[in-house]
Amino acid sequence: MSWQDAIDPKLQAIVAQVDAKIAPRLAEIDDQILDNQAKVLRAFQDNHVSEADLVGSTGYGNSDEGRDHLEAIYAEVLGGEDALVRPQLVSGTHAIGVGLLGLVRPGDEILYITGEPYDTLQEVLGLAGNGIGSPKEYGIKVNYVPLLANGEVDFAAVKQRITDKTKVVAIQRSCGYATRASFTIAKIAEMVKVVRSVKPDVWIFADNAYGEFSERQEPLDVGVDLMAGSLIKNAGGGFAKTGGYIVGRKDLVERVSYRFTVPGLGGAEGATYGMMLDMFQGFFVAPQTTGNAIKGAIFEAALLEALGLPVAPKWDDPRTDLIQTVNFGNQEDMVKFAKAIQQSSPVDSYVEPIPEQMAGYEDKVVMAAGSFIEGSTIEFSGDGPIRPPYTLYLQGGLTYAHVKLGITQAAQTTFFTK
Ligand SMILES: *Cc1c(COP(=O)(O)O)cnc(C)c1O
Repeated sequence: MSWQDAIDPKLQAIVAQVDAKIAPRLAEIDDQILDNQAKVLRAFQDNHVSEADLVGSTGYGNSDEGRDHLEAIYAEVLGGEDALVRPQLVSGTHAIGVGLLGLVRPGDEILYITGEPYDTLQEVLGLAGNGIGSPKEYGIKVNYVPLLANGEVDFAAVKQRITDKTKVVAIQRSCGYATRASFTIAKIAEMVKVVRSVKPDVWIFADNAYGEFSERQEPLDVGVDLMAGSLIKNAGGGFAKTGGYIVGRKDLVERVSYRFTVPGLGGAEGATYGMMLDMFQGFFVAPQTTGNAIKGAIFEAALLEALGLPVAPKWDDPRTDLIQTVNFGNQEDMVKFAKAIQQSSPVDSYVEPIPEQMAGYEDKVVMAAGSFIEGSTIEFSGDGPIRPPYTLYLQGGLTYAHVKLGITQAAQTTFFTK
């Protein structure tokens, strides 16, 4: 018996063509996995990870050597001097919020140069929501420079908008729910160069969500000062049960650590009981897991394009994150496809996703995710706000095989079943 027995012969033929077409591209990703895995393995060895490191601390979490080693590994691999890698960072939004707001003081400005920030960050930054506790209440300005119509950074405007008040320039690597391409490391390097030419000492921050291990370099390698992300995306490798990270320049990690906890304590406390094994193991497999997810995204792009849907990025475009967008053009197909992905999940496969209002998001959102870890998007999932052009954001996949099975089945359900 073959998995293909249940697939319409017409779709089988298209899958076979897609497989042949993308094979060389998948091989390139396998090469990248090797390089990133070597980097991670070396960092584990350099930092003398031992069995005792995997146990974790209790109470205050003082002198937690395992935590120190894990943070040193994150710093080494991601190109920083120091890091906070903590289960007490409740999500990527929290880590990014602590990173950004920990840097600024009354009178300062945070300037996003990659257009409107990600939906959940808009409330953190006081650009949406009820404004309680927002930076504005503390006399901190947050602004963004809209992108050009072609989705690129408006460098002329950026140069004008950076003033003596601008303390932090922020870059969002992944597209989030915007209709633009994600910014590759090469593009981020160019942004850093332009920003430094106007204001050499400004702090440059990157929202690195979905980016880790999707290229051979990270934003810190090209001059970004501080960056943050989630452990239930790439960096957690599917193993981390919760958490976020902040990594970068030592003085800046210290500065934001006082916002993460309180002045005086900073990163010195924070128990890791029961969490360390998953966080170490997850970071160890993260290059492979991320690679699997990217290979899955390449398959998605090629297959859905072959079925006539507009996709971004295309299967042979350069990639810098996990996100694959597909425009369905109407709510019905979008929701149907999302439901089929849910049915292909290992957990909650019998549950029907329904578009809902969600905390932190402005429009109704449909979310298909039958993940082992709730909300984990390094696991195969699809979601998107219900608004034209009815774009589903597909991401993740612990194994390439799962993504291939799930997407093929969803294509069959949506387009080959009447
Ligand atoms: C997912 C994401 C975040 C927030 O991470 P959460 O863990 O979902 O809070 C921030 N920025 C971007 C671009 C993201 O994709």
